[in-house]
Amino acid sequence: MNICKIAANAVAFSYNNIEDFTTNVFLIETSSKFFVMDTYCGSDAIKPILEEINLSSKNKEIIVINSHFHWDHVWGNISFAKKDIISHEICRKLLHEQWENQIKNNRRYILGRANKQLPNITFKEKMIFYDEGIELFYSPGHTIDSISLFDHNERVLYAGDNLEKPIIYVENNDINTYIKSLENYLNYKPKKIVAGHSLDLKEEDIFSTIEYLKGLSEGREFTFKTDYERKIHYQNINMMNKK
Ligand SMILES: [Zn+2]
Repeated sequence: MNICKIAANAVAFSYNNIEDFTTNVFLIETSSKFFVMDTYCGSDAIKPILEEINLSSKNKEIIVINSHFHWDHVWGNISFAKKDIISHEICRKLLHEQWENQIKNNRRYILGRANKQLPNITFKEKMIFYDEGIELFYSPGHTIDSISLFDHNERVLYAGDNLEKPIIYVENNDINTYIKSLENYLNYKPKKIVAGHSLDLKEEDIFSTIEYLKGLSEGREFTFKTDYERKIHYQNINMMNKK
């Protein structure tokens, strides 16, 4: 696991236990709160994050955010059983329905405990912590329940899995909605963009992702450098062909 400072008020914890990609958990410290964006694969993954919080301040409230329902972003929720965990309302529903199945299919990646722990607060469109400068907003794309976070203090956009290098993974074939969510990102004029599996993204990555999605929906031919990219691209094509 690597810890990397991404802004004056935020660090990324990057984990490599899953082959093919690294996965990030973000810790943002504001005037009276800590925001933990995603919880990776279980209680053991969360230990260094709790250590970091305790080193910095024991008195600030901890707010946990689930960017979407995928297992590699939620299994550490159990470490925050007594805290507020926020997600989109669809995310809570999907987690309720699919927690056990996701465990069954990906059990080998559990770190420590991964007992079912659902978000206890949900929203539909937006949720703003005005005093903290933190805005959560609905951004369907990678999945139908995806949300993003914008930190107005540092102008950092936390895009969940909607942006990913070298290639995005499309699970929801509503491509127009995905493109709208990406275009909406541009309105925030982010100074820095990070995501669930990528750090150091730029505005141009939003544009190139929009181009990829347009090509995908038109059946355009793409060439890729690696087998991994080709594999994900074929999965994306299959997703597009599903009703
Ligand atoms: Zn995902």
